[in-house]
Amino acid sequence: MSAVVTEKKTLREGAFGNATALSCRECGHQVELGPFYACPECFGPLEIAYDFPQVTREEIEAGPRNIWRYKALLPVPDDIEQSPNMEPGFTRLLKAHNLGATLGIDNLWVKDDSTNPTNSFKDRVVACALSAARELDAKVFACPSTGNLANAVAAAGARAGIKTVVFIPSNLEKPKQVNSAVYTENLVAVDGNYDDVNKLASEIAGEEDGWAFVNVNVRPYYAEGSKTLGYEIAEQLGWRLPDQIVIPVASGSQLTKVHKAFQELIKLGLVEDKPYKVYGAQATGCSPVSVAYKAGVDAIRPVKPDTIAKSLAIGNPADGIYVLDICRETGGAVEDISDDEVREAIVLLARTEGIFTETAGGTTVGVLKKLVESGQLDTSLETVVINTGHGLKTLDAVADSVGPIATIAPSYAAFVATGLA
Ligand SMILES: *Cc1c(COP(=O)(O)O)cnc(C)c1O
Ligand SMILES: [Zn+2]
Repeated sequence: MSAVVTEKKTLREGAFGNATALSCRECGHQVELGPFYACPECFGPLEIAYDFPQVTREEIEAGPRNIWRYKALLPVPDDIEQSPNMEPGFTRLLKAHNLGATLGIDNLWVKDDSTNPTNSFKDRVVACALSAARELDAKVFACPSTGNLANAVAAAGARAGIKTVVFIPSNLEKPKQVNSAVYTENLVAVDGNYDDVNKLASEIAGEEDGWAFVNVNVRPYYAEGSKTLGYEIAEQLGWRLPDQIVIPVASGSQLTKVHKAFQELIKLGLVEDKPYKVYGAQATGCSPVSVAYKAGVDAIRPVKPDTIAKSLAIGNPADGIYVLDICRETGGAVEDISDDEVREAIVLLARTEGIFTETAGGTTVGVLKKLVESGQLDTSLETVVINTGHGLKTLDAVADSVGPIATIAPSYAAFVATGLA
């Protein structure tokens, strides 16, 4: 395991806020807070453990309109707002009247995370990883990425004044390449898919000192950022939990952390305890979790991704087994849809709610539709669907399905001929 801390630097007091240790998700073994991500006993994933103070709704509501309003519940220092960062979060929760009516869902909300600083939910996780990288004295802020993470790391590193190096699969959509390269001089395209890039990053993290790979060696801190999506949804609903929530699944981290957030809010007495169902969304061309769910098995067989939903194209999802547990335990499901259904759902969301989502959001909205049609989702219950990224990043996905209905001469007669008069 790599040492992010280059010299034997002692962590400053409160470097990780109310976090107390890293705890193994599999065996419960605890290790001290540091640049560790795998259990020394069983190699299970390490998660942040906390000793939360009594937090009140009023204290949170008095905080800034970004993720730091929840800083007491994150592994970040109390003075986090003083360090330059992207200040992500507190995105819109929109009542989706038209989409709800179209799908026959009485009470539907879209949590629109495409309005984050680099237009995806990844700004949340990167902000927490950046804090950890700083406290651990990292010299380089890096990531392997399916696209959005590269954008978020490159931008956050630029703003923080820390060197960034980001690795992407070489076949990534052009807009996502540009959206990274504009912020960093060090964009590296790797011939291979995301899983190859991820393996390379793990190798580099093991060899080089002082590199913080946000989703590798500081992954426990990074992952906690996704909890803020869950906190926000509950707060924006008036401090209560929805009945059902549909979340896209790549590595599965986001889905598990939204569930963790809901559980924490219940334990802290910030929302009333109630049952809720969690649904996972994948594209059929990369659906290892959905396949396992439908087969009723616990093990996830890795796949080679082949889908336009590139930001979800992780063939060997690290948190896939926990996604299965959560979706099964809560009475939800995992479902997948074809690339054509992804494209249709992008247009559906745009034309019903005025929200342009990328292929990941198309996947999530399309899965929501399929869950309704197959009777797996109760249309009488309050439902939230998460839009995790912006459509401008994956323009090509719908470039051939939408466009001008006619090209006309600048004359009234030509306009009338279009039939729009
Ligand atoms: C990364 C990403 C996800 C899913 O992330 P995981 O936490 O790895 O499951 C969903 N949507 C978008 C747009 C992403 O970039
Ligand atoms: Zn363990």
